[in-house]
Amino acid sequence: MRIVVAGGGAAGFFAAITAAAENPDASVIILEKSPKLLSKVRISGGGRCNVTHDIDSLSALLSKYPRGSKFLKNTFSQFGVKETINWFQSRGVRLKTEEDGRMFPVTDDSETIINCLLDISRKLKIEIRTNEGLAEIKTDKVFTLKTTTGNTLSADALIITTGGHNNSGHYQFIRDTGHSIVKPVPSLFTFNVPGSIFKDLMGVSIEKTGLQLPQYKLKESGPFLFTHWGISGPAVIRLSAWAAREMEESSYKFRCLVNFTGKLNEDEIRQHLLNFRESHPKKLVAGNPLFELPKRLWEKLVEQSDITDSIKWGDLPKKNLNKLVEALTRTEFQVQGKTTFKEEFVTAGGVSLDEVNPATMESKLVKGIFFAGEVLDIDGVTGGFNFQSAWSTGWIAGKNAASGNE
Ligand SMILES: Cc1cc2nc3c(=O)[nH]c(=O)nc-3n(C[C@H](O)[C@H](O)[C@H](O)COP(=O)(O)OP(=O)(O)OC[C@H]3O[C@@H](n4cnc5c(N)ncnc54)[C@H](O)[C@@H]3O)c2cc1C
Repeated sequence: MRIVVAGGGAAGFFAAITAAAENPDASVIILEKSPKLLSKVRISGGGRCNVTHDIDSLSALLSKYPRGSKFLKNTFSQFGVKETINWFQSRGVRLKTEEDGRMFPVTDDSETIINCLLDISRKLKIEIRTNEGLAEIKTDKVFTLKTTTGNTLSADALIITTGGHNNSGHYQFIRDTGHSIVKPVPSLFTFNVPGSIFKDLMGVSIEKTGLQLPQYKLKESGPFLFTHWGISGPAVIRLSAWAAREMEESSYKFRCLVNFTGKLNEDEIRQHLLNFRESHPKKLVAGNPLFELPKRLWEKLVEQSDITDSIKWGDLPKKNLNKLVEALTRTEFQVQGKTTFKEEFVTAGGVSLDEVNPATMESKLVKGIFFAGEVLDIDGVTGGFNFQSAWSTGWIAGKNAASGNE
């Protein structure tokens, strides 16, 4: 039996290794279009590879996937976070958990993951061809595959793990087999706010903010960062994932409201300010940041509330106090574009999940074709969730391709 895996990334290697281990008689070939193997693993997590996330409950794990959570329920029940950790640990890769739950190899080096996958592939005698991509699939009793170098090879099973791409042409050879591709759009990006009055706060971060996108009825909370182009930070990037499709449809033009105090509402903040005024009437408003806000941000919000530097709390007119409450809880950013978040980005969209069996990763349309990884219409927020779905779907695809899925 010959199994061909198209794509030498995380999902491709996991699928190939699992298939070769499951069926030692099978010949397994990885076709990689580019000269490099596992290139995203190498650069991931700032070169440290955020392999997965320490999360126990299945429902909590599924809640990290803006697209694909329903489909992944079955996947993660078969091979989830625990199985992934065991898989790596039993092959000599020890993982550690950071405070926020992200898991990395203890070496803090993505090469550890790459070496592990390459070593096992060598031991299992997986044939790896670089600079040779899959170009065309002819489906019959066996598959006849044309590669980008003009070669032809046959396969009994084909596992497609060619990753995500914002250019829909990337998926044409899959479309040609009758599969539907959900329009690919970018996910995980930062927001551009041209002409923002906060531009000079570039680099200032706030630990706890509350964000709202009224247009998409979405809310997020978490760390926030002012950038040269606009706004970023985990809360912003999570929002970009949840509304990736809607934002693309509105050409990345929308309003983002920020509550710089985190979860406090207007009444709570007003009361807090009134209490402060009563106990510190002689203190300057501008010089005394509240809510643990960075001084530069506080001063900017005070300035936006038309409060001059010399005004003391005891002399603060009600009108300006109300403006300050508004600035603290509902500062509005007019987003007009996006910037790639260099640390991690993914594609939302890909092979339609309606056409794939979640228990096996096999196509419902063409028996013997399996899909895994980002090529599917699955993507997660940052934190190791994108690799987790690549490992899990890759493992299941490899296992079922090797067993003939009888
Ligand atoms: C900068 C960056 C950092 C990231 N960091 C993290 C992180 O720390 N944690 C995390 O969970 N996720 C991270 N991600 C996301 C994660 O890397 C991807 O979700 C994951 O790599 C998807 O794996 P994959 O195997 O499906 O696709 P890919 O890794 O994209 O691999 C697909 C492979 O297929 C090849 N290919 C394409 N077309 C063909 C063809 N026709 N024939 C043969 N081969 C083909 C490509 O060249 C590529 O090598 C990061 C992404 C980026 C861009």
